[in-house]
Amino acid sequence: MSDPYAPCVICGGALDVVLDGVFDTRFGIPGWFKIRACRKCGLEQTRPLFSSDELKAAYETHYNFGGERNTLYTRMRRFLFDSPLYRWWMAADGDISFHSRRGTGRLLDVGCNEGRGLRFYRRNGFQAEGLELNEKAAEAARAEGFTVHTALLEDFRPQSLYDVVVLSNVLEHVPDPSGTLHRVHRLLNPGGEVWISLPNAHSGLRAFFGRKWINWHVPFHLTHFTAEVLRGLLSSTGFEDVRVRQETPALWAAHSLIARVAARQGRPTRALRRPLLVASLMLVWRGILFPVSWWFSRTGRGDCLVLSARKK
Ligand SMILES: [Zn+2]
Repeated sequence: MSDPYAPCVICGGALDVVLDGVFDTRFGIPGWFKIRACRKCGLEQTRPLFSSDELKAAYETHYNFGGERNTLYTRMRRFLFDSPLYRWWMAADGDISFHSRRGTGRLLDVGCNEGRGLRFYRRNGFQAEGLELNEKAAEAARAEGFTVHTALLEDFRPQSLYDVVVLSNVLEHVPDPSGTLHRVHRLLNPGGEVWISLPNAHSGLRAFFGRKWINWHVPFHLTHFTAEVLRGLLSSTGFEDVRVRQETPALWAAHSLIARVAARQGRPTRALRRPLLVASLMLVWRGILFPVSWWFSRTGRGDCLVLSARKK
């Protein structure tokens, strides 16, 4: 574990505790965490942080794509994502991964995993490429005809620049968000866009679920942005014309509810993996509690920020 008093990753300011007793509500990774807020820029951050070795081990245990291909599960998932049902669901529930955005030009999906997003971007008109460190996941995407680079963002030198770079639920995982946006800026053509989605630290569900809000996601989420803090960071890293939308995905609401009832420190929350339970709660959220979701989005308290910004 790193220094629990380490300063702000963006501006070096001192941090104050805003929430104590936070723990991993998904996998049961041991440890207690605090959420601290920067006095200067307002960015909230997880403390203490895992060391890079500890984090690597945690990602390998819980996030590692094992190269699963053409199994019943992957075929069913693919059938679902290719069906009109998914497009209908995105229209009703909100599109937080830019799967319905149309356009042209070169697009880079950072952390593309096995390429699910790439298929949507290609279908919607883009020349889509990926950047993915997990070699097995990159191979799975290449098997579908995509160009996928396996390099760190800081070492990545493409032959030509991009018109769009996608950071879908990525920025909150990186130790240096400011450096990441500078690197993305360098990869873009003049006037190119960055598309970002991440949890909203100003979310209404955060206020309701407190330390069991699913999107604290410690130890993996290192920073917790509001729209205002992210606007400031985008402006200081060379972006303009920031457009922000808010969504509260039914899946995230269902996960927070399950964590609120079932999560215990040091134990995996198995109920999060019960498809029928999760699907039922999602339908309740979308079908009955939709006015709450609508109200959250209207008042800047949606659970997910969906932004785009243009390179100056
Ligand atoms: Zn700061």
